[in-house]
Amino acid sequence: MSVFAAHDFSQHEQVVFAHDAATGLKAIIAIHSTLRGPSLGGCRMWAYASEDDAITDALRLSKGMTYKAALADLALGGGKSVIIGDARSQKNPALMQAMGRAVEQLAGRYIIAEDVGTNTADMTEIRKQTTHVAGLAPEQGGSGDPSPATAWGVFLGLKQAVKHKHGSDDLRGVHVAVQGLGNVGQHLCHLLHEAGANLTVTDIRPDFISKIVDNCGATAVAPEAIYAAKADIFAPCALGAIINDQTLDQLTCSIIAGSANNQLKEMRHGEALRSKNILYCPDYAINAGGVINVCYEKLSGPNGYERDKSYAHIARIPQTMQQIFDLAQQQQISTAIAADRLAEQRLIKPASAQVAA
Ligand code: NAD
Repeated sequence: MSVFAAHDFSQHEQVVFAHDAATGLKAIIAIHSTLRGPSLGGCRMWAYASEDDAITDALRLSKGMTYKAALADLALGGGKSVIIGDARSQKNPALMQAMGRAVEQLAGRYIIAEDVGTNTADMTEIRKQTTHVAGLAPEQGGSGDPSPATAWGVFLGLKQAVKHKHGSDDLRGVHVAVQGLGNVGQHLCHLLHEAGANLTVTDIRPDFISKIVDNCGATAVAPEAIYAAKADIFAPCALGAIINDQTLDQLTCSIIAGSANNQLKEMRHGEALRSKNILYCPDYAINAGGVINVCYEKLSGPNGYERDKSYAHIARIPQTMQQIFDLAQQQQISTAIAADRLAEQRLIKPASAQVAA
């Protein structure tokens, strides 16, 4: 594939192909933008069917990070890396250290973090070769698992959507259907339950379901039944592309607010939700809690990661959601398009939180 002519090439600043013969590392680091600060994004390790698929993923995901960081008003640009290989059989400390050396060569233009196929232990190996890494364990001064922060941001964004739609953010008696009870979904369920919401939940893991049924008084349904579950709010916290031609007509909710990335199969599905009067909370705006938390690990200051400051920044997600809702209303566009427009405006403004060099 020619990178410059690729469908997902979008004025990316730099695309690096990294190879290490000793460990067999084959990786691509895509830096989409450093306009607002160093690019930050997770490292995905995946057994891609082809090199073209790996390039496409790196290009697409890194651009998404630029938009997410800008909308969250972080002094970060967008980047992402992919390691071509099976994380279960091909990952080892030497490989991750080789990845760390590749990141180090970029001299801080890219900050690596965890993503699908990588974890905190991998970041510890990478840290042996470069300081340009985030998502370390708390014992190492890091911010640890980002999921509680992501769930908190989704919860606040969801409440803002309820307020926008119904005039009050009181969740007592509000019915939420949650798809996916993994790291983010289960935290979200606890927050919703404590706020008095009624839950209908699903997962493909029966053990995850029983925990939430027992602890949050939720009603369980089969995975394919979640779309048609009678609910005021649908909270997708599992897969992407779940808003599509097959699911749209099944939805009974008036709000969609969840953590999953790339919820709309295509941009036109955002417009379809608007015409059905369903308020969609754009995924990369509402699920920014995790990246905000990771960013605060890199913020300057003698104390390193400061949870209070991070959570204060996450508490601004409702304000961003409201700006998106207002712009969508003013311009009669979908909230998905409004989020993109707002992010593009912010790309030219300085951020309020600066990352240490
Ligand atoms: P996870 O892997 O811990 O949880 C996903 C859950 O979805 C799992 O329990 C899985 O069994 C379930 N699932 C898979 N297929 C399903 C199906 N067909 N029906 C119902 N459930 C199904 O992941 P996570 O970290 O909780 O992230 C959830 C989503 O949020 C993902 O899309 C992720 O990209 C996104 N996200 C996560 C974070 C974070 O901080 N973890 C940040 C931003 C976005």
